[in-house]
Amino acid sequence: SISTGQDFDFFYFVQQWPGSYCDTKQSCCYPTTGKPEADFSIHGLWPNYNDGSYPSDCDPDNPFDSSKISNLIPKMQSDWPTLACPSGNGLKFWKHEWEKHGTCSESVLDHHAYFETALKLKDQLNLLQILKSSGNKHTSSSNPSNTILRPDDAYFIDIMIPGIEPDGGFYGLKSIKEAIKEGTGYTPGIECNVDESRNSQLYQIYMCVDSSGTSLINCPLFPRNRCSSQIEFPSF
Ligand code: 5GP
Ligand code: 5GP
Ligand code: 5GP
Repeated sequence: SISTGQDFDFFYFVQQWPGSYCDTKQSCCYPTTGKPEADFSIHGLWPNYNDGSYPSDCDPDNPFDSSKISNLIPKMQSDWPTLACPSGNGLKFWKHEWEKHGTCSESVLDHHAYFETALKLKDQLNLLQILKSSGNKHTSSSNPSNTILRPDDAYFIDIMIPGIEPDGGFYGLKSIKEAIKEGTGYTPGIECNVDESRNSQLYQIYMCVDSSGTSLINCPLFPRNRCSSQIEFPSF
């Protein structure tokens, strides 16, 4: 029988922290277009099943064609840079993502819409800003030293609680998840990798998106957690 419905349940929208890709033993290479901004960048938009499995390489007859996305290329160079070695202009990475993942959602997002949707999702999710500004939110009623405070003291405490910054410091995995839940309404999946000194660090952030690519949803399941309870947020 003929099926026109989409054959997956939801998308993972995955963003990577470039500092955590580059400070590994494997290292990284900046794209030919220059060092990316110090911001999360897109890894991919991945169709997934609710049981954790996923389809891949679904349509060999619909190969990557950069001419179909030529108007998106400048934005992809800034928001979806490749950091793999050797240095590239991004086309190889985007080809891989389209052919492995994008072809499995082509019934809902065509070639152009797939990339456009990922770029739009990144614009809607300013993860770095959410993390940086997370410090001052949970403190107004707290008084860690349990002493009587004047209003000015409370204010002082308020502005002294640091946000979660890519400064090479260690942050609670829970506080990172909580900040993103506060900022977006949804709990993210967090994937860690290790730097050259084997420190567990913030590598990728997974947000879940409905199967039309329009709205964030609660994740049906999260990727396997390999993070320590305290993880590094390296600079880039
Ligand atoms: P890794 O083994 O590095 O975690 O993942 C390798 C590749 O497998 C990823 O780049 C991605 O293409 C795919 N992959 C890993 N985990 C998932 C997942 O949970 N869902 C989907 N759709 N793909 C995944
Ligand atoms: P996945 O199969 O997990 O979706 O994508 C990973 C593949 O994309 C790997 O083959 C990797 O070499 C390539 N790749 C190219 N540039 C990047 C990058 O900046 N980050 C990651 N994670 N993979 C990249
Ligand atoms: P792939 O075969 O999918 O390109 O890459 C396999 C694994 O090695 C993925 O986890 C990918 O992110 C990682 N990888 C591939 N090339 C590089 C690289 O140049 N630098 C780093 N740090 N990781 C890479």
